[in-house]
Amino acid sequence: MSEREVILADLAERARFYAALTDVGVPRARARPETPVVSAAGAPAPEDLAAIRDFIGDCQRCKLAGGRKNIVFGQGNPHAALMFVGEAPGADEDEQGLAFVGRAGQLLTDIIEKGLKMRRADVYIANILKCRPPQNRNPEPDEILSCQPFLERQIRAIRPKVIVGLGKFAGQWLLKTAEPISRIRGRLGRFEGIAVIPTYHPAFLLRNPGAKKEVWEDIKVVRDLLSAD
Ligand code: URA
Repeated sequence: MSEREVILADLAERARFYAALTDVGVPRARARPETPVVSAAGAPAPEDLAAIRDFIGDCQRCKLAGGRKNIVFGQGNPHAALMFVGEAPGADEDEQGLAFVGRAGQLLTDIIEKGLKMRRADVYIANILKCRPPQNRNPEPDEILSCQPFLERQIRAIRPKVIVGLGKFAGQWLLKTAEPISRIRGRLGRFEGIAVIPTYHPAFLLRNPGAKKEVWEDIKVVRDLLSAD
């Protein structure tokens, strides 16, 4: 994309965002997903991940920009059947510009390799926020609002068969609910028609190893969904 196209796309994105706000500054519930790009043949053309990354650019859209070292876009197989969505980069991820590369990431690798018998390179891993919050604090609503269009577009580009939401923020965001993670984990939901299974965050498992047995139950559901026709 040329610089002009990037600016125009950015303005269009902002216009859509402001048009969706009510007079109290809360986004209106969308009746249907954003109109997909339509190819010459009339079929929706999924956007390229590289174009989404280009669109993010050197993002200054929210207050996290000033404190980050790297934008953590997400990585993995762009045609993955399985996608993981976490919360936000931590210190290791911010340092390396890659999602889930710290201690929680090692546990996620175990879940993928030992639990699902898959290679980490065959799945796609991303976060709700692309920049690290200070001291790993929870994502704030305005940050989620600024960042969520990128994740929505990543999901539409990849169209995995199953998405695993890791932890409260991802589970609630994917399922558009405020229910606690302890209640929604393991429960099949949908994001734009794609199967979603929320489960506990690997960082929570590091602090609460006893919860691994519930994650194992959830992973069995994921395995069944992946192998179903
Ligand atoms: N926790 C997350 O939610 N995401 C990461 O990338 C790392 C830790």
